[in-house]
Amino acid sequence: MKQLTHTQLLELDAQYCWHPFTQMQTAAPPLAVVRGEGEFLFDAQGNKYFDAVSSWWVNIHGHSNPTIAKAIAQQALELEHVMFAGVTHPPAVQLAERLVHNAPAPMAKVFYSDNGSTAIEVALKMAFQYWQNKGVAGKSRIVALEGGYHGDTFGAMATGKSSGFYAPFAPWLFHVDFIPTGVCACMEEQALAALDHLLANSAGEIAALVLEPLIQGASGMRFMRAAHVAELCKRCEAAGVLVIFDEVFTGFARTGTLFAAEQVAQFGGQADIICISKGLTGGFMPMAATLTSQAVYDAFLSDQVGHALLHGHSYTANPLGCAAALANLALFDEESTWANIHRIEATHQRWLPTLACHPLIENPRVCGTVAAFELKSSHSQYGSSASQWIRQTFLELGIVVRPLGNTVYWVPPYCTEPETLENAYQTLMHVLQRWGSLIAPGPGSELF
Ligand code: PMP
Repeated sequence: MKQLTHTQLLELDAQYCWHPFTQMQTAAPPLAVVRGEGEFLFDAQGNKYFDAVSSWWVNIHGHSNPTIAKAIAQQALELEHVMFAGVTHPPAVQLAERLVHNAPAPMAKVFYSDNGSTAIEVALKMAFQYWQNKGVAGKSRIVALEGGYHGDTFGAMATGKSSGFYAPFAPWLFHVDFIPTGVCACMEEQALAALDHLLANSAGEIAALVLEPLIQGASGMRFMRAAHVAELCKRCEAAGVLVIFDEVFTGFARTGTLFAAEQVAQFGGQADIICISKGLTGGFMPMAATLTSQAVYDAFLSDQVGHALLHGHSYTANPLGCAAALANLALFDEESTWANIHRIEATHQRWLPTLACHPLIENPRVCGTVAAFELKSSHSQYGSSASQWIRQTFLELGIVVRPLGNTVYWVPPYCTEPETLENAYQTLMHVLQRWGSLIAPGPGSELF
């Protein structure tokens, strides 16, 4: 590939590219990244940045991890791709076997797709058709949690409507019943009461409940107790409503266990369908999977084609993605990976009291390798001047963050060296000092 200078890269970008979730008129020029290694990204001018958000939460074992890179290269020389309808191949079957063995009960089958949104679309379609195939008419409603985010395709947008990202598309989103998100004891009660009410009155019309277990990511890293999620699951199970876990963000040990579902299972709650993506390939290849119980799968078995799940993508079970995912999972067999995960959590915990005492921070919290808090600000909208200021300031100090409104969070790759994370916390203290002078009444403070 042609070598580009920093300036050429930015000029070509400005001329031809349209970036996701970006107001192109006002956005600062993008960070021009040319290389990644471990927890670091390098720009075209040789500057080094700590990727504190794992590149939108996909990176697991570090950038350009040699084990995963080699697995992909080897697979590319063997078989780059073949359709998955009527065909199978070694990486797909080995990955499916591994996922079923690693996922908590009752997961038994794996349906591959391309990204988190498609994993959700597949899950929703499975849930709707499951009841139709079983001859149960009228189960056509979905229940979701307020603020939940499940992706940007239409079904995913409908279930994430209350997250507030989709106003222009509202007329085309199907109806979803939203219940409160149990982020505190009071909200837990409200959530259970709302679910009970829906189940008592309309269980016969509800196909499934969909939720992000333990952490609602995009709506601001909002945490829920595993015991509460389990309670929601148990009520759905008792009422004959399927449960879909969206583990697109929480999967692959973000919450401290390989799947958040493991922690929910400790309290007796389980899902019928689990969606995974992002960390599945260690952040190398776009790929997703929708895992289901045997019971869900069995409902699609029939002598009629119409009972099959008539859904598929050209790149379903792409061998390069499967090879990357297998290598990614093999790295979880190494004790050092789990030692790193626990060390990251311990560092977050060690800083928690400092953050809790800080006058400019609200609600600091830790779940596994995820740490989050709110910066005190009057502007908390996604992409607001406050969040842009936070991003730019961290960037100048060598750290890539992507605040959600005024929620700042660390989601580091697991290979992150202890001193890198420690430095990130020290840098945060500097940023807070600057933030303090900006929000203090005076010139410029009106920006925030
Ligand atoms: N579900 C959750 C919980 C997510 O966080 C995201 C993306 N941030 C998605 C689904 C959609 O995934 P993708 O961007 O890969 O379509």
